Amino acid sequence: MDEPNAVPVIGLEIHAQVLTRSKAFCGCSTAVADAPNAHTCPVCLGHPGALPVLNAAVLRAAVLLGRALGSDIHPRSAFARKHYFYPDLPKGYQITQHREPVCTGGTMAFVGSDGTEHDIRLERIHMEEDAARLLHRGDASLADYNRAGIPLLEIVTTPAFTSAADAAAFMRELRRVLVYCGICDGSMERGSLRCDANVSLRRTDGSPGTRTEIKNMNSFRAVERALNWEIARQRALLKGGKAVASATLLWDEDAGEARIMRGKESSADYHYMPEPDLPPAVVTQEHIDAADASIPELPLARQRRFLEKYALPALDAEVLTAERSIADYFEDVVRHLTAARTDSDAGAVETGMRTVPAKFASNWIMGEVLRGMREAGLSSPPVEAARLAELLRCIGDGTVSGSAAKRVLAAMAESNNAPEEIIDRLGLRLLRDDDTLRAQVREVLNAHPKQCAAFYAGKEKLLGFFVGQVMQRSGGSADPKRAAILLREALSRHGDEDANASSPSGKGES
Ligand SMILES: [Zn+2]
Repeated sequence: MDEPNAVPVIGLEIHAQVLTRSKAFCGCSTAVADAPNAHTCPVCLGHPGALPVLNAAVLRAAVLLGRALGSDIHPRSAFARKHYFYPDLPKGYQITQHREPVCTGGTMAFVGSDGTEHDIRLERIHMEEDAARLLHRGDASLADYNRAGIPLLEIVTTPAFTSAADAAAFMRELRRVLVYCGICDGSMERGSLRCDANVSLRRTDGSPGTRTEIKNMNSFRAVERALNWEIARQRALLKGGKAVASATLLWDEDAGEARIMRGKESSADYHYMPEPDLPPAVVTQEHIDAADASIPELPLARQRRFLEKYALPALDAEVLTAERSIADYFEDVVRHLTAARTDSDAGAVETGMRTVPAKFASNWIMGEVLRGMREAGLSSPPVEAARLAELLRCIGDGTVSGSAAKRVLAAMAESNNAPEEIIDRLGLRLLRDDDTLRAQVREVLNAHPKQCAAFYAGKEKLLGFFVGQVMQRSGGSADPKRAAILLREALSRHGDEDANASSPSGKGES
């Protein structure tokens, strides 16, 4: 049947590695990157008779995420065994939650590809353990059980997405929420955040199509590419009069295509059964209260607040709230800037300090600070918020030029000294003595009569040339903004005199 207008229906299953010190059901360390098999014990190796015990931190994380997203938290939830045979699973089953997950329902808002906010309903959030990692070397396959038993939260959405771009946008937002809540480090690269998706095409008559599952998407970009690829594949099948077969596909990012791994298992294939070695997980009122007390302002709400409270452009609000630590840093800098403003700052507006310190701070953080962090591979800003605020004040009150301040910032990152100290050490203090500056302005104008005449004739761009000349004459110590103001003053006076002098004599322009 030809269904060119069939609407994609996408649901996501996201696995987030919970930031805990020990594994989900044993005391082994979660340092998965250590030497292979450094962190194993009879429980996570699946030795017969070894008894799992739930790590309370995993339950706390599940309750926190559930409360943050408005899920129903169940006082009792049960663990189940999901059976399959594979070398990454020594027990022959994975401990997960099946019929009685810890959280059901809930909603998460995200900004879709159309630029508006959408609410996506969640099916559930449940706790489970990760499998081991297999490394394939030539003919040999090696197993690293450091990852076996690592705690995961699985977040399952309703099949509510109609485009690959929206699914990827949701993933980005969920990543922010998980990182803001301190539940997961959010690294898709390292595998601490993973995404599987169900895809089908709803027929134009509204009837559902056959679902396929696509796995192994290791970046947000991969999520979008893989889903678009699968949507196109299903469309082509339907268009050619063929049926979509239920299947699991493995995305190959390098090849830009997926390969069909196996016919998709149904729930029955896993022979789920209750886990007899674990009692139900019990959530008490204390759990709920503790979670509520530690829910941070969620990233999208914070982004909205940045737009309103600080009147920032949309891009600034998005970039600054991408990481919670940067959003905190920005607000700290603004707090220091506003707290430190006094009457002596009245002139600051004139010399360049924005009337809105927030945008000024945002420019510096989005530019120099984030760039510096990227280049040095840092996870936090190279200078304290209070120090950056001091430097911004130095720019605002004309102590240092914006371009010289970049050098000051780099030096501050190394020494953590006060900006004023560094400005003096590097000889970057701007000349703000108006009498000296006026004298230099006069010298410059007198030395360039031709350019003055051209300026009066309308070539206002020459102001930049004059500023450059003043800077040169002052050995780079003049405040360019102040120089520009004094130049304009001098030129207008000069122009009046010139006009008065020239009209009676009838002298034309030369
Ligand atoms: Zn263990």
